[in-house]
Amino acid sequence: MDKIKKNFGFGCMRLPMKGDQVDTEETCRMVDAFLDAGFNYFDTAHGYLDGKSELALKDCLTSRYPRDRYILTNKLTNFYFKKEEEIRPFFESQLEACGVDYFDFYLMHAQNEEIFKFFKSCHAYETAFELKKEGKIRHVGISFHDRAEILEQILTEYPEIEVVQIQFNYVDYDDPAVQSRKCYEICRKFNKPVLVMEPVKGGNLVNLPEEAKKVIEDLHGGSPASYAIRFAAGFPGMMMVLSGMSSLAQMQDNISFMKDFKPLDETEMEAVKKVQAIFRSMNLIPCTACRYCTAGCPKKISIPDLFAIMNTKQLYHDWNADYYYNAVHTAPGRKASDCIKCGKCEKACPQHLQIRKLLEEVAKEFENNQGE
Ligand code: SF4
Ligand code: SF4
Repeated sequence: MDKIKKNFGFGCMRLPMKGDQVDTEETCRMVDAFLDAGFNYFDTAHGYLDGKSELALKDCLTSRYPRDRYILTNKLTNFYFKKEEEIRPFFESQLEACGVDYFDFYLMHAQNEEIFKFFKSCHAYETAFELKKEGKIRHVGISFHDRAEILEQILTEYPEIEVVQIQFNYVDYDDPAVQSRKCYEICRKFNKPVLVMEPVKGGNLVNLPEEAKKVIEDLHGGSPASYAIRFAAGFPGMMMVLSGMSSLAQMQDNISFMKDFKPLDETEMEAVKKVQAIFRSMNLIPCTACRYCTAGCPKKISIPDLFAIMNTKQLYHDWNADYYYNAVHTAPGRKASDCIKCGKCEKACPQHLQIRKLLEEVAKEFENNQGE
């Protein structure tokens, strides 16, 4: 772990796109700027951008820089194996896609009660520890989305786990479903360095509601993202805060305040508490747009986009949201009311959202006047 240079990492799940392909020129510029500024941690997974994130890292990072210039984390995701024998071939395909012969960190992806049981039944953890002995993984960890008690169970059963990635941001800090604070406390109890995902809550803490925006502007300091990322990075034991950046401009903003990182001071912390309270009062759908739910939906409903539109309408009372609902995100047969309530999406949702119920509310909001 001593290869890690700074506490800010490049999450490669929202790379810049040109149509449905990664914009490799912009990604190369981002990689160069990131490394030039002294950062070196990159995070990917096979599911990010349908496998294109791994390939983009080969094009933009691993084929252009020597192996000791960067730290690369990849993950074992439950969608891509059904039994133990399929894990190694999948892992080898990830090494090849990324153009490396080892991963610095390899995480058991999106662990929750159910997925953990499946991983155990396939000896996934044991396989990862063997790969570590073979030198193909330097450190084994987990990324986690469930209640703190399940995290405690996993860390008790597998003390060999070296790092834990959790969702941690100032809105989810005391959220009863996400339990950021409680999960963080478990990591501290087991003395595991923490990797933070979703510090800006899928962009929700970047595009703030007006009232919250004003609180941040009154500080006359950095961008809304800067406060969210510095909040997460300021807790003891936070080894790395990841940000899923989509443009050079976003990256430059992040570099500007993470290059010489300072935790939030008292006034800034007070402002963040005010923003927390504003979010709580607004009753928004806490979707992070990770899109894990969409792959298995038999009706191909654009679940996160519909939730984003619903939140936009709630925040800004924006007529434009109706246009987006009807003209952009609901092709025939893919409206919220087309949901057949199979529940597949809810099993995949790391935020434990009651998607079926929420889609009923979306349908009520946007489909009422259309005689359907
Ligand atoms: S419950 Fe509805 S939205 Fe979810 S996967 Fe099934 S059809 Fe799709
Ligand atoms: S509904 Fe859940 S799984 Fe789907 S995008 Fe939102 S947070 Fe992710």
